[in-house]
Amino acid sequence: MDVAPADEDDPFEEQRENAENPMRRLFSEYGADNTVAFVVGVASSILARVLDLLPPLLLGLAVDAIFSQTVEREYSLLFVPDAWLPPEKTGQLYLTVTLIAVAFFGGAAFHYSRNWGWNSFAQHIQHDVRTDTYDKMQRLNMDFFADKQTGEMMSILSNDVNRLERFLNDGMNSAFRLGVMVVGIAVILLWINWQLALVTLIVVPALGVFTYEFIRTIQPKYAEVRSSVGQVNSRLENNLGGIQVIKSANTEDYESDRVEDVSRDYFDANWDAIDTRIKFFPGLRILAGIGFVATFLVGGVWVLDGPPGPFTERLTAGEFVVFILLGQRFIWPMAQFGQIINMYQRAYASAERIFGLMDEPSRIAENPDADELVVGDGDVVYDDVTFGYGDDPIVEDISFEVEGGETLALVGPTGAGKSTLLKLLLRMYDVGEGAITVDGQDLRDVTITSLREHVGYVSQDTFLFYGTVAENIAYGTFGAERDEIVEAAKAAEAHDFITNLPDGYDTEVGERGVKLSGGQRQRIAIARAILKDPSILVLDEATSDVDTETEMLIQRSLDRLTEDRTTFAIAHRLSTIKDADQVVVVEGGQVVERGTHDDLIDEDGLYAHLWGVQAGEIDELPDEFVERAAERRATVESDD
Ligand code: ADP
Repeated sequence: MDVAPADEDDPFEEQRENAENPMRRLFSEYGADNTVAFVVGVASSILARVLDLLPPLLLGLAVDAIFSQTVEREYSLLFVPDAWLPPEKTGQLYLTVTLIAVAFFGGAAFHYSRNWGWNSFAQHIQHDVRTDTYDKMQRLNMDFFADKQTGEMMSILSNDVNRLERFLNDGMNSAFRLGVMVVGIAVILLWINWQLALVTLIVVPALGVFTYEFIRTIQPKYAEVRSSVGQVNSRLENNLGGIQVIKSANTEDYESDRVEDVSRDYFDANWDAIDTRIKFFPGLRILAGIGFVATFLVGGVWVLDGPPGPFTERLTAGEFVVFILLGQRFIWPMAQFGQIINMYQRAYASAERIFGLMDEPSRIAENPDADELVVGDGDVVYDDVTFGYGDDPIVEDISFEVEGGETLALVGPTGAGKSTLLKLLLRMYDVGEGAITVDGQDLRDVTITSLREHVGYVSQDTFLFYGTVAENIAYGTFGAERDEIVEAAKAAEAHDFITNLPDGYDTEVGERGVKLSGGQRQRIAIARAILKDPSILVLDEATSDVDTETEMLIQRSLDRLTEDRTTFAIAHRLSTIKDADQVVVVEGGQVVERGTHDDLIDEDGLYAHLWGVQAGEIDELPDEFVERAAERRATVESDD
């Protein structure tokens, strides 16, 4: 049977195909640390089953040796010398009862150690795999965190890791239990009376083929169910998100129909699978029933009248009882084998995805001889830098220099490459050609950790972690004292609004806490940067989308933050960067203008016109700029 097909658009496809037998790798890499649990699990599974099979055997013996009027067989136990056994029947009965009791209690003890072993094995591996995968994931390139792929990674971290656990625990546990059971029963029956055993076992191959066929039929149906439930979910999510548009466009009926369509597909797919599944178990029962009736008929006649037809062996009443009791236990193991195979296949596919992610090479390889970055003045130089995400360069031949403590503003239309230039400074990516140096040290020759310690980053969209305001300000500067946090918040003009929150600095924010406005979040980010006190600062459109009053507050806090620090700022609102020491205008990945605000106004180029429009001095850009912008939009959009 084939393993579940790979999802389309799967970012890890290549690695996955290269991953050789992921299950073997799972056991060798993660199983090795948990050998004790594994051995306890295997040994207890076997012993618990053996003890389970003992009572019917002892019962059969008791029927023949103790209760039968004619004494069909002498009382004797395998591996125990006859001299040790009690001579009279009462003693033999007590011994039998004692042994059955021991088998039950021993069985219970081994059931416990079996579950302990397998659960411990599975839980430890699950924990290790999850933490390793998360560890690895955090170090992947930023490319992997694009929208579509975040969902994919979330699914690896939760669904796939859980599926492994389910197989390692339930699957392996059942596999051993059932394996021992089926083999054990077959051996006992063949040993007691191989001829009648053949009658009992004749349905086993049929059960096997039937189960196999069932799995083969149901698997594609389950795949269909999974895909249709995915469609229902995305439709619902999409519609709830866009409810405002639906209401204002008056399209409720249209959307209800669309939801009905996908839900109907899901219903049909599910019903198809249910239809197959509910036929399977009665079918299995019928097959098992045939085996049971045949054994009962042949065995019954045998005990009454001696061997029927071609049979020659002796069969006692007690042996017949053992056949009936044990033969019954064949059905469910066979039904469960199907589930185990299914679990194995899903675990296999999950292990492939997990190792696919783990094998994803990091595009940023740290130089093994990398030194710590030492920042003195904080001079930053871009020397002829060229870089592209794919084959085509996004920024080309960029050179500029920022002296320690100065501010450089990057200006230009959307898509020009401004953020890309700053990502290179943070070393989210490595330059293709050229070099970036900080106080003369090439970024590729210093450790990434030391680089990021010295570079602070305030983005346009500040993410708050679930936790208190104080924790969010101290994020990354974990040892900070409360008064340092408050100082930073004051400098960031955030103190006043924070003290007005229900619990002040201890107010919970983030996803499940109090919602803060964009301007408030931004000031928290600024406070975070002030507290971290980096030598170099990157501000990515730090003052977008806020009202004028907030912008003034933010501007004042930024002025404090950027004072005496080498700063790179991207801003669409040119008023915020008017005082920058240097303005670099980027267009189409190249530097088109450079100088101070006043220089560029005198130059009367793109910057001067943008400034004119924003300052309200001129009403519109000259046609030539509008044309250029339209062309740019067209190329950006056709790229998308
Ligand atoms: P800006 O900050 O000036 O708006 P960006 O640096 O964000 O511009 O983007 C420059 C170009 O690079 C755009 O065409 C954008 O589509 C592309 N780009 C940005 N990030 C990525 C990425 N992770 N992978 C591929 N292309 C990207």
